[in-house]
Amino acid sequence: MVLAYIGLGSNLEEPLAQIKRAFDELGNLPHTRLTARSALYQSRAIGPQQPDYVNAVARLETGLTSLDLLDALQAIEQVHRRVRLQHWGPRTLDLDLLLYGAETIQHPRLVVPHPYLTQRAFVLYPLADIDPNLQLPDGQSLQALLQQCPFEDIVRLPKSH
Ligand code: ATP
Ligand code: CA
Ligand code: CA
Repeated sequence: MVLAYIGLGSNLEEPLAQIKRAFDELGNLPHTRLTARSALYQSRAIGPQQPDYVNAVARLETGLTSLDLLDALQAIEQVHRRVRLQHWGPRTLDLDLLLYGAETIQHPRLVVPHPYLTQRAFVLYPLADIDPNLQLPDGQSLQALLQQCPFEDIVRLPKSH
């Protein structure tokens, strides 16, 4: 079993509901348990102008290979009727494989750790909700990354959501 961290994002068609459903769907994947979920965050979109996002991170314990997990994430995105119209455009659901154990992966379909992980507040802060002492495969600590990434353009949503 491997610990994998998934970044969730949505900014269309009731983003809060999309994210909550996605947590359940992640927990229902074969050979997989959902072992932690971060708080929910509202973040300003990167890329073209579009509605704010709701973001979160999930931690999974999984027996799936990294590529099988990517396939599963993309299948869930399809269930949420994600349509790719525009690079970094609005979407009902985006699921990124952030970390897969301590592995570094360079595959045409899959780069892990996720390439922008270290620069995105909407990924780093939810990761820290789950595992503040996390280290990346290259030895960088999440705490050091957080110190270089201001809590900017994101808001932690109250628990009642
Ligand atoms: P960004 O990568 O900047 O977050 P995005 O999430 O909008 O952008 P997508 O259109 O969702 O990008 O994905 C494009 C492709 O990225 C996917 O088809 C997938 O094969 C590839 N990919 C590479 N590494 C990863 C990863 N770690 N997690 C998810 N997809 C990945
Ligand atoms: Ca993404
Ligand atoms: Ca993606």
